[in-house]
Amino acid sequence: MSALSHYLQQQQFCLVLEQIVSKRTELPPISTLAGLPCVMAFADRVHADDDPSPITLAQSVSPEQAKLLHFSGKARDVKDLQQFVEQAKQQNLHDVLLLTGDKLKQHNFGHTDPRQRTRYLESVSALMWVKAHAPEMYCGVAFNPFKYTESEEQAQYLKFEKKQRAGADFVITQLGYDLNKILKFKQFVDASAQPCPVLACVMPLTYRRAKFMVKQQVAGIEISRHLLQHLKAELQENAAWAEQRVYARAALQIWIYRHWGLAGIHVSGCQNPEQQALLEQAMAQYQTWTLEQCLMEWNRLCKIVRGDEMQPDLSAAYPQRQASVLKYQVLQVTHDWLFDSTLAQKIGRFVFQRQFWQQGLAAKSILAVEHASKHAVVGCESCGQCRLAETLYICPETCPKGLANGPCGGTRLDRCEFADRECIHSQKYRLAKQVRQQDILRYELIPAVPVEIRQTSSWVNWFNPKVIDF
Ligand code: SF4
Repeated sequence: MSALSHYLQQQQFCLVLEQIVSKRTELPPISTLAGLPCVMAFADRVHADDDPSPITLAQSVSPEQAKLLHFSGKARDVKDLQQFVEQAKQQNLHDVLLLTGDKLKQHNFGHTDPRQRTRYLESVSALMWVKAHAPEMYCGVAFNPFKYTESEEQAQYLKFEKKQRAGADFVITQLGYDLNKILKFKQFVDASAQPCPVLACVMPLTYRRAKFMVKQQVAGIEISRHLLQHLKAELQENAAWAEQRVYARAALQIWIYRHWGLAGIHVSGCQNPEQQALLEQAMAQYQTWTLEQCLMEWNRLCKIVRGDEMQPDLSAAYPQRQASVLKYQVLQVTHDWLFDSTLAQKIGRFVFQRQFWQQGLAAKSILAVEHASKHAVVGCESCGQCRLAETLYICPETCPKGLANGPCGGTRLDRCEFADRECIHSQKYRLAKQVRQQDILRYELIPAVPVEIRQTSSWVNWFNPKVIDF
């Protein structure tokens, strides 16, 4: 049994210390902090797209150290995941956090040739693959509870239900400072059919870090105007005192989450021993405090009076565009008749199971006809494995990351992480609600599209499924 799964299954509250490094380096091991067991987490492609592999970094730390590997789906395919899992197993590393990942630093979104577009292996599909092919791995997933419109929040929760169905062993939340959102998510998980351990991300938030995240619009991280101004005022008053309060708030978050029954904390921004010592010191101060005392102190240190101070300005929400119900209905009827009916299946198999359609001019022609008939209507990019019926006829290829199972964590008030559109999954949620099809977004687990199948006709593939690795 791996160390992390042992702690979580034994309900032993633990700290997962995230290491973000851009070059291979000596990382000092750490077994406990403030009396709590520690796991080192090796981030993947956070600093730069060519960061060293988490497996390489993990190898540089003593074998006794408990470790968690991150795997990011940025610019990756199922084959990359397969290779990653094989290497991890060889190193006796079995704990992995499966992430879709934020946008690449050097992303080529907007490239006119879909064949050269950056692809993302989404976390749900990655989890499906690992559970099917390497069940000995202990798999975590991410969740971003810091969403403030109904559509972006519900889309996140529906996707999380898919992750539960796909077999997530534990979940780690996005970094955030609106504690009510963490409590709401914890209560949701506990009430669900498949509860799993919840860890929350905590980072000692200095003014410099907060300003950077606001300025860079770091994906999915919500720093309210109130919080930013409060941190600035503290720093201007006295730098040493401000630093103490930064660590005091992080310590309070940790103990509050423990009181709420979370399984542990994913600690970011505490890589070096000096930072860890400051956190440990602050944690010792509040270790014996009750939940009420911790919450009162948190409110005092954050200057929370009304209760909505950690929320974003809701007037900045992206203008919502309603997907057409009529278009959905027409496409659904068309799909049922042409692809799902018994007659269609018989004719389709008779016609398309011939080798004739697999290559040469016939393959090119059928692909061109399919693209011409679907691109203008739904934005089809000839993925070869049409998922429209499972995505309410909103094509996943119109998401810059190509996500089919639900949103990434990067939306901000419905605005896509790439900033140029509303998140397609927010639109899809509203349509689902209107046509009462939320269960499709909750239950349909959609596998990844293998690279080899792209730019082939999904019509031919539908009636003549290729042997793919799912
Ligand atoms: S459309 Fe939604 S899921 Fe896709 S990249 Fe944008 S925010 Fe993420």
